[in-house]
Amino acid sequence: MTRVEADSCPGVLRLHEAADGPLARIRLPGGRLRADQLQVLAEAARDLGDGAIEVTSRGNVQLRRIRDAAALAERLAGADLLPSPTHERVRNILASPLSGLVGGLTDVRELVPQLDAALRAAPALAELPGRVLFTLDDGRGDISGLGGDFGGHAVGEDYALLLGGRDSGIRVPSAQLVAVLIAAAHEFQSVRGEQWRLHEIPDGSGRIAAALSLEPTADPLEFTAPQDIPIGWFDQQDGLVSLGAGVPLGSLPARTAEFLAAVDRPIVLTPWRSLVLSDMDEWTAEQVVRVLAPMGLIFDAASPWLLVSACAGRPGCAKSHTDVRADAAAAVTEGRVLPATTDQAALDDTAPVAPDSVAVAGRQHWSGCERRCGRPKGAVADIVAGSDGYRVTPLRNE
Ligand code: SF4
Repeated sequence: MTRVEADSCPGVLRLHEAADGPLARIRLPGGRLRADQLQVLAEAARDLGDGAIEVTSRGNVQLRRIRDAAALAERLAGADLLPSPTHERVRNILASPLSGLVGGLTDVRELVPQLDAALRAAPALAELPGRVLFTLDDGRGDISGLGGDFGGHAVGEDYALLLGGRDSGIRVPSAQLVAVLIAAAHEFQSVRGEQWRLHEIPDGSGRIAAALSLEPTADPLEFTAPQDIPIGWFDQQDGLVSLGAGVPLGSLPARTAEFLAAVDRPIVLTPWRSLVLSDMDEWTAEQVVRVLAPMGLIFDAASPWLLVSACAGRPGCAKSHTDVRADAAAAVTEGRVLPATTDQAALDDTAPVAPDSVAVAGRQHWSGCERRCGRPKGAVADIVAGSDGYRVTPLRNE
């Protein structure tokens, strides 16, 4: 496949001209945010954007309808949220959100800033496509199935080296993992031509392993996209508490974000459009649920909101046939998002359905057109708008 269009991934210094106005995407390696950084994002969303912080499927955030790009860049730089003008769009790093707090084989938290710093220190990697994704999985298997380009998956003392989203069979000591990932990214730059992702290059993984003189030594592990996301109360290994909270349709109002920031604890944004607030005592965690659940954050793992995702739709995207987010929200509030156990074998995916007649069971992604932007990995039903209504495709693995 030869690309004809340029890589147009937005950042802070290069905004995307969306149908509803300029859009900024801010990279947060590992989804990690300090409370003061969340406060800065909330104020920027309210003062310079549309009043909400969008959480993306890579644990990054977006601000829409930016009125003053220079003021936004200045505010973000002052909060360490724009540490590298040259590399801002390539700092795409996913890491296990609960790592070091609950479960997992190891703690990958220290690897995130190490990998980020190594990326930013490599001038040639400033030219990586903005779609390239690095992954760090602490062995629990929550991140490795999400289709990264270069990743490490903890297996005992070592890491399995993931190339193009698959285990290469190569094992790397943890002390060498960052250097190997950076070397693999350099090699990708030299062979990729016009391609944006490693899996798009014929035998790309094999070519990179050969160039780095790395040999498989183990049977490759298989990874799938996780179905369970961390929601609710988690007792940490150190006796403190983490809370996992869903963000309905990934849109966090600035006021809710300010309440979260006021808790003054570390925050991790997840690739499932949720967040983890950690390091609280029990009393604080109880107050957070008491205050933030009525403001819309989801602490109940059985909530139908957690089954639903949606693309931008109208008014943000000119290609959209309709306001899919409003239709998806109505399906939730009107009880038309059904439990995953509901039998829907008879669904007919050829007939268009009116918005208020869509009633689908289990994980579902609503899209304003056939491109299906932001569709989660794994078994998901597709609900796609057309000129004559929505077409529903039952659960399908992609
Ligand atoms: S799926 Fe279509 S309508 Fe939705 S954001 Fe993508 S291009 Fe726009």
